[in-house]
Amino acid sequence: MTSLPTHPTPKKLGLVIDLDICVGCHACVVNCKEWNTGGYGAALSDQHPYGADVSGTWLNRIHTFEVTPEGGEIVGEAGEARIVHFPKSCLHCEDAPCVTVCPTGASYKRAEDGIVLVDEDKCIGCGLCAWACPYGAREMDLAAGVMKKCTLCIDRIYNETFEEVDRVPACVRTCPANARHFGDFADPNSAVSVMVAERGGMDLMPEQGTRPVNKYLPPRPRKPLSESAAMFSVAEDTDGAKGFFAWLDGMLDRI
Ligand code: SF4
Ligand code: SF4
Ligand code: SF4
Repeated sequence: MTSLPTHPTPKKLGLVIDLDICVGCHACVVNCKEWNTGGYGAALSDQHPYGADVSGTWLNRIHTFEVTPEGGEIVGEAGEARIVHFPKSCLHCEDAPCVTVCPTGASYKRAEDGIVLVDEDKCIGCGLCAWACPYGAREMDLAAGVMKKCTLCIDRIYNETFEEVDRVPACVRTCPANARHFGDFADPNSAVSVMVAERGGMDLMPEQGTRPVNKYLPPRPRKPLSESAAMFSVAEDTDGAKGFFAWLDGMLDRI
């Protein structure tokens, strides 16, 4: 068994992910794989990269769900359903069960900044940490025989040879929608803390008691389809324009 830091870490570095604007493009996933394959430890292996039985090591994955809000009006086939893209990687939990379960001390939480890491020289590939993580955030590298996980790109965020703008995790740097943000959650005035306070940022599965550092910003409510339909009917009434431009005309008239 491995111990967690005895005192709260002075920094709590992590990510906030805005579910309202993630478009599920997987750019963060691909750049995470690319950066961590080329830039950190042993390469992230792929055993079967193509075909039906795909197998490989990815530290960041996107899950996509169709969600129907409670009480949502059912109009047509889709009703009020919407698609939510859900990026998921290690959440750098404060009470990380993946750390306390590790028999060799390979898994540890850094006392200085709260990042959860694996010392690959100590890892025996037993897989206990993967069983203990309620979020499925651990990845056994079948080629290297050791456990891997999100490191928050420690080789980028402290790299003084990089421009300041590049000293963020690869997923944050690459997100074209600006859905991912990196910062110190121990500082209530940091941009990520302010964002979480203003948007009601949430823990993933708080009932697990793991106290994740990473937070999710919930999707904002959408207008009901019936209201959207009304907007489009305004568009049809607008003289001299059709389709999207007619709709835009109608909306601008209302401002
Ligand atoms: S998300 Fe999983 S792997 Fe990451 S710190 Fe929490 S329990 Fe450990
Ligand atoms: S797989 Fe490695 S890091 Fe995970 S519990 Fe076993 S020894 Fe620790
Ligand atoms: S790069 Fe950004 S928008 Fe694309 S899937 Fe990742 S978080 Fe979502």
